[in-house]
Amino acid sequence: MSRSKPAPDPLIKHLQSVLPDSCIVSDPVSMKPYECDGLSGYRQMPRVVVLAETVEQVQAVMRVCQQTGTPIVPRGAGTSLSGGAMPHKNGVVLSLARLNRILHIDAQNRCATLQPGVRNLAISEAVEHLGLYYAPDPSSQIACTIGGNVAENAGGVHCLKYGLTVHNILQVKMVTLSGEIVSFGSTALDAPGYDLLALLMGSEGMLGIVVEVVVRLLPRPDVARVLMAAFDDIEKAGNAVATVIASGIIPSGFEMMDQAAIQAAEDFVSAGYPVDAAAILLCELDGVEEEVTAQIEKAKKILVETGATDIRLARDENETRRFWSGRKNAFPAMGRISPDYYCMDGTIPRKELGNVLTSIARLSEKYGLRVANVFHAGDGNLHPLILYDANQPEEFRKAEEFGGEILDLCVTVGGTITGEHGVGVEKIDRMCVQFDSASLAQFRAVRLAFDPQGLLNPDKAVPTLARCAEFNAMHVHHGELPHPELERF
Ligand SMILES: Cc1cc2nc3c(=O)[nH]c(=O)nc-3n(C[C@H](O)[C@H](O)[C@H](O)COP(=O)(O)OP(=O)(O)OC[C@H]3O[C@@H](n4cnc5c(N)ncnc54)[C@H](O)[C@@H]3O)c2cc1C
Repeated sequence: MSRSKPAPDPLIKHLQSVLPDSCIVSDPVSMKPYECDGLSGYRQMPRVVVLAETVEQVQAVMRVCQQTGTPIVPRGAGTSLSGGAMPHKNGVVLSLARLNRILHIDAQNRCATLQPGVRNLAISEAVEHLGLYYAPDPSSQIACTIGGNVAENAGGVHCLKYGLTVHNILQVKMVTLSGEIVSFGSTALDAPGYDLLALLMGSEGMLGIVVEVVVRLLPRPDVARVLMAAFDDIEKAGNAVATVIASGIIPSGFEMMDQAAIQAAEDFVSAGYPVDAAAILLCELDGVEEEVTAQIEKAKKILVETGATDIRLARDENETRRFWSGRKNAFPAMGRISPDYYCMDGTIPRKELGNVLTSIARLSEKYGLRVANVFHAGDGNLHPLILYDANQPEEFRKAEEFGGEILDLCVTVGGTITGEHGVGVEKIDRMCVQFDSASLAQFRAVRLAFDPQGLLNPDKAVPTLARCAEFNAMHVHHGELPHPELERF
C-alpha cells in the first residue's frame, strides 16, 4: 500500500517564492542545531529555519510572516544563556549569521559599520592594526554576534570602565515587522527625538531585526596591568571589591572567582592561580604608564587592608594573558568537575557582594547542589554556576529552583534579575518579582507599538499580567519574603 506524502507546509511554499532554496532549512535533521541556544535545558524544534544572506531577504521574510501571522525568532550565534533564541514551534528561526561583513571602518571618527552577524571578537581583530578596539567583550566573544550583543545589551570584563553595549553603539538599522527599514541613533554626539536606540538595547528580538550596527571604537590603552589578589574568605574578597572602587579607582576589569572556579580553571589551563585560596580577584588597571603605576600601588594597599593573603602583579604580557585565560576559560572548565552547569546572571549593589555570596553558599547546602562563582565583581554582576547532572531529571528542576532563589535574593538586596544575559524564557517569571503590574503594562505597550500582532519572539522577556498573577500566587506564600534573613529593599 503506498503511503501518501504529507501536504507541503504552505508557509515553506510561501518562503520558497521569495527566497533561494539555499536559504531555507526545513528537514528535521538539519534543523536540529537550531532547537536550542546556550540554555540547552530548553528545546523546541522550529517550523522552518531561514538563513538570510541579504537585508532584502530579511525584509521579505518579515512580510511573509506578517501576512501569515507566523512567529519570528531572530538568531545570531545562538549563545544566549536565557533561551532568547529558542524557537517557537509554529515559527521561523531567522538566522542573521550569514550577514557577517564589516561594511566600513572609519578610523578618523573611530567607528565601524557592521552587518549583524559579525562576531564580537572579529571587530577588535579587524581594527587592531589601527591601534583601536571594541570594548564590550563578553566571554563568548569568539562566537557571539554584534546583533545578538545589541539584542541582549551584552557586557563583559571591560564594561566596568568602558560601558555595556548600550554605551558603545552609535547607530542601528532595523527591519520592522512590516518589512520597512528604520534607523535609530547617529554618528553625531546627539540625535533629536526619543532615544529609541537605547530602547533597542536589550530588546531581545521583540522590536525588529537588527540588520546594521555602527559601533564606537576606542584607542588601545598604552599599558594594561593585572593584579591577582588571593583571599582566605570569600566575603572579604567581596568587600574588597567595593572598597577599591569606592576609593576612586575604576579598574578596566575586576573579576572574582571562588575556590571551585579557581581549581577547575587551574586544572584546565594552568593559569597560575593559588588553588588553596577561597577566592581570587583579578584587577586590571589600564591607561598611561605613570597613572597605572600609581593606581597599582593604591589598589595593592587597599587589597592588603581588606584581607588579601597574597598579591601578585603579572610580570609581563605572557603572565597577563595567562591570568585572563583562567577567567575566560572558567565556564568550559566546569565540564571537568560536573556533567552540566546552569549559569545564573543577576546584579547586586557591590556593597552586598560578601553578604550575597555567603547566602548563595547556604542555598547550595539547602539544595544539595555545588556552586562555582566566577563573575564581573566590579559591576556586582554575579554568575553563580550551579552544578548538576542533566541525566537526573530531578536535578535540573532543583537547579532551576536554586537559581530562582538566587534571583529573588538579588531583587531583595536592591539588584536586578539580569546583568547581561537577558530574560528570554529563563527568567520571564522573575520579571514578576522585579516589576509591578503598572511597569509591566508599560513594557507590553512598548512591545505592541512595534509589533501589534505579537509575532516577534513571542512568549519571551515580558510576561502577561495573568502569568504574573499565577506566578505570584504560587511563589510568595502568605506574604513571606523569599529570604526572611534579608529585609525587602
Ligand atoms: C560561555 C558563554 C559565556 C558568555 N559570557 C557572556 C558575557 O560575559 N557577557 C554577556 O553579556 N553574555 C555572555 N554570554 C551570553 C551570550 O553570549 C550573549 O547574550 C550574546 O550577546 C548573544 O549573542 P548571539 O549572537 O549568540 O545571540 P543569540 O543567542 O543568537 O540571540 C540572543 C538574543 O538576541 C536576539 N537576536 C539575535 N540576533 C538578532 C538580530 N540581528 N536582531 C534582533 N534580535 C536578535 C535573539 O532573538 C535572542 O533573543 C555568554 C554565553 C556563553 C555560552
